[in-house]
Amino acid sequence: MTTLTIQRTWLKKYRYYPFSYFLKEKFPFKVHKISIHAGFTCPNRDGLVGTGGCTYCANESFSPNVGETIMPIKEQVEKGMRFLKRRYGAEKFIAYFQAFTNTYADIDTLKTRYEEALFDKDIIGLSIGTRPDCITDEVLNLINSYTEKYHVWIEYGLQSMHDRTLRLINRGHDYKAFKDAVLRTKDKENIKICAHVILGLPGEDWDDMMKTAQAVSSLGIDGIKLHHLYIAKNTAMANEYFKGNVKTMKVEEYVSLVCDFLERISPDIVIQRLVGDTHGNFLISPIWDVSKGEVFSAITEELRRRNSYQGARYIPRSTLPHT
Ligand code: SF4
Repeated sequence: MTTLTIQRTWLKKYRYYPFSYFLKEKFPFKVHKISIHAGFTCPNRDGLVGTGGCTYCANESFSPNVGETIMPIKEQVEKGMRFLKRRYGAEKFIAYFQAFTNTYADIDTLKTRYEEALFDKDIIGLSIGTRPDCITDEVLNLINSYTEKYHVWIEYGLQSMHDRTLRLINRGHDYKAFKDAVLRTKDKENIKICAHVILGLPGEDWDDMMKTAQAVSSLGIDGIKLHHLYIAKNTAMANEYFKGNVKTMKVEEYVSLVCDFLERISPDIVIQRLVGDTHGNFLISPIWDVSKGEVFSAITEELRRRNSYQGARYIPRSTLPHT
């Protein structure tokens, strides 16, 4: 274990670096994210990259507003602002283009849709979820142009650094595509980068997942969203699950695995998500009898029990053996 001292308040309190804490440090007001479905599709579903999509993908199950008639973006933002102000006392907002692939359109369409969300003075940020194989330099330049006035993130779906896993789950891109997207985005300097990773994918053991932790961390990303593998209805993964080819984890196993993962990533990476979220009737497995808040507390408790914290086993890139 490295000798990183627990000096930062968030380490003492949470033992990892939560996004809420990052936002508190950065802004003098309460900031929340508003999820938007901007009407984009996905090249891994419409045939450009593949059909059928990622085997676990039921975008309808984790993105609000998907599956319904899509409300105009401005209305989605207004509705989100009203809700978050009332529920959490939020004051400012990050417009989060969440559903499907939010860079998958021509440049004029992208510009129009992004700017439709930026209509209100209380929108101070933009976060764009996409695939690493769907980010041209032209789109990067457009997104970078918003960094003058806004706090900007790009969220890249990766899930695993192992190409055999990416093939198995039909991601339609390899790890090289992710690395390339991250490096080109880092060239823009002011865009923050978040990676999405799933723990518990079929065919992966503990070592595989820890390699993903080390690999994404060494790329110098700014944030990470983790979630456990869950099986949603109407997915290819659900068929595999019912055949007995895929297993899901108990909450205790996941908590332990997340702690192992957190120990191996840089303490500077902001944790944007720690547990998966699926809406109501879509979930097949695992059914955990605990709230999200209880999972967060269990993770902090486990790290405390180990006398550990995010980054405790992180090996900085400069000290990795040259390969
Ligand atoms: S890239 Fe995203 S939206 Fe597209 S199939 Fe995969 S999970 Fe679904």
